[in-house]
Amino acid sequence: MLLFACSLTLAAPARVDVESLARDTKGAFHWYPVQKTFTIVAPQDTFKFAVGIPYMTRNGSSIELSQAPQLENGHIWIAEDDAKKVTSKAVVATPVETAPAKPAEAKPAEPAKPAAPVVVKPKPPKQEIAGSREVRTIVIDPGHGGKDPGAQGKKANEKDIVLAVAKLLRKNLADEGFNVKLTRSKDVFIELGQRANLANQWDGDLFISLHCNAIDASEERKRIIQGYQFYVLRAPESEEDKAIARRENAVATLYGEKNAKDELSPLEWFKLEARLEQYKQTSYLFTEKLLDSFEDGKIKRMGTGVGGAGFMVLVGAMMPAVLIELGFISNEEDENYMITRTGQQDLADRIAEAVSKYKDAVHSYRETLGRN
Ligand SMILES: [Zn+2]
Repeated sequence: MLLFACSLTLAAPARVDVESLARDTKGAFHWYPVQKTFTIVAPQDTFKFAVGIPYMTRNGSSIELSQAPQLENGHIWIAEDDAKKVTSKAVVATPVETAPAKPAEAKPAEPAKPAAPVVVKPKPPKQEIAGSREVRTIVIDPGHGGKDPGAQGKKANEKDIVLAVAKLLRKNLADEGFNVKLTRSKDVFIELGQRANLANQWDGDLFISLHCNAIDASEERKRIIQGYQFYVLRAPESEEDKAIARRENAVATLYGEKNAKDELSPLEWFKLEARLEQYKQTSYLFTEKLLDSFEDGKIKRMGTGVGGAGFMVLVGAMMPAVLIELGFISNEEDENYMITRTGQQDLADRIAEAVSKYKDAVHSYRETLGRN
């Protein structure tokens, strides 16, 4: 691609074509047209950009740009000043909050301790992040509560169903030896942002947010649309998933939560990306286990069973996190099942089974790495 804009002195700030910049750094250039993002994979570093967003990441750490990259005349341009940040090694990147722990260099591993009395605290500085360490603490988040009923069915409110399932799940998991925390164990209102904060305070290994799905449609549609679905925090790919996230996020705008909005902006997605990457594998691993254990249940599967969307409640969680839509409260069959004790216990059993399998999978994975 020939380029003479650089050599011209224009009134506009000098800018550089990113493809030639990639060549200058001996890096590979990749363009992702759907997301409008691009990467430069240089020998030392990987840079990621998004058109219209004044940030880039270098190896996952975000760096502010003087200007957002622009798409113009079939080329992508960034400011010359910003290009220097790619070519120069001197830029200091802001580390992301949860950089993965460095592999221990000093000592290979702790000597195996014989079953000594367990001393719980004080905690050493975190050696391993949630998702790569053994699974112990499960945070269950029953959605809604108090003044926020959640979706309303013919007979019940979402907030009551999810609380009932959460309590049964707590019992199951505690019996299996997990340390279990509930973001609410009563009919109280808790802001979306506060839920993830609690999970972080408890240093959870897995965050499970429980909800019931609903559609606002004709009786005929309500009869047809049913089923469970599991969600991870990921840019939504369908309008349906987007709509579900908007409905679940509406509580924040409805009840005046600070910084309330019902959708994540492209900039927020971009900034979140490095952190989401850390928990992506394990969040999906848990959804796989959920799919297995829900397979032959009374409630049907909705679509593929797994979706991604911008659920605010998952945004702040520094751990693998999954939002479960147990079934459609707007569907009579699903609702009738979810309001019975049998149905609630069955749902709790299935989730608990998935948590156990997830725990085992993480444990085996650690063994293959020689971490145990
Ligand atoms: Zn909900």
